[in-house]
Amino acid sequence: SEQRLLEIRLMAYGNRQLLLVARDITRIRLLEGMRREFVANVSHELKTPLTVLQGYLEMMQETIPENDMNQQALKLMNQQSKRMKSMVEQLLALSRIEDAADVDLQNTVDMSHMMSMLEEEANALAQGQYQFEFSCEAGINPHGNETQLFSACINLVSNAIRYSDPDSKIQVRWALVSSGAEFSVTDNGLGIATQHIVRLTERFYRVDDARSRKTGGSGLGLAIVKHALSHHHSELSITSEVGKGSRFSFIIPMHLIELPASQHKV
Ligand code: ADP
Repeated sequence: SEQRLLEIRLMAYGNRQLLLVARDITRIRLLEGMRREFVANVSHELKTPLTVLQGYLEMMQETIPENDMNQQALKLMNQQSKRMKSMVEQLLALSRIEDAADVDLQNTVDMSHMMSMLEEEANALAQGQYQFEFSCEAGINPHGNETQLFSACINLVSNAIRYSDPDSKIQVRWALVSSGAEFSVTDNGLGIATQHIVRLTERFYRVDDARSRKTGGSGLGLAIVKHALSHHHSELSITSEVGKGSRFSFIIPMHLIELPASQHKV
């Protein structure tokens, strides 16, 4: 017979009453799966035409003389098609990451290597601006999926770049803490008002739509981070103050951390 999926909740009322609620979520899960597949297919199909458009736009920009009045229009079209392509890529990345099936927690991720890749990419994004401070405690490596952890980390770093001034400081750390190992990004940027913080990981949620549009955000970055972290038994913490800056961090729990031989788990 057909398998059903039930969600079971046990709720306590006062000291004496317990309520057991079972809900059949078979259909909801089925629809979620269909939605994911649809989004993945659409994003995939959109990538090719966008690449072709972008190629021709770039070619036209190069062949039309600098002072031609069409140059400005071409520049805008090029910018917008790049933006659309990066949104499509983020959508694809999100639908891949939402699918828990390909997360293997047996693999060990080399964190020193990952931090140096992050630093390289951060420098490329920053184009010589910003003062980065990268630090990585050696030999502390999480179990998990390298691609997903990298995309969580780079999304946090690129947000710090996007939402702070070009001459400000951005600190990126990987360090042992009591319950596991912590990755954190601290910026002295715009900061976020408390009422927005709880909603930041929702798809397409943005504090300031106009600013995000200008800075090229898709509104999907933190949703990607959230899903990637949930596969690693972790979640995003955000502390922030408007006008002062923000700290985005997550802790990979100790049971997924490999320590150097000199340190023992307690
Ligand atoms: P986006 O692509 O718009 O950056 P995200 O999902 O990555 O989308 O982030 C959602 C929103 O959270 C952003 O639009 C921005 O308003 C806010 N945000 C994210 N990171 C920071 C940060 N380091 N400082 C201030 N605001 C931030």
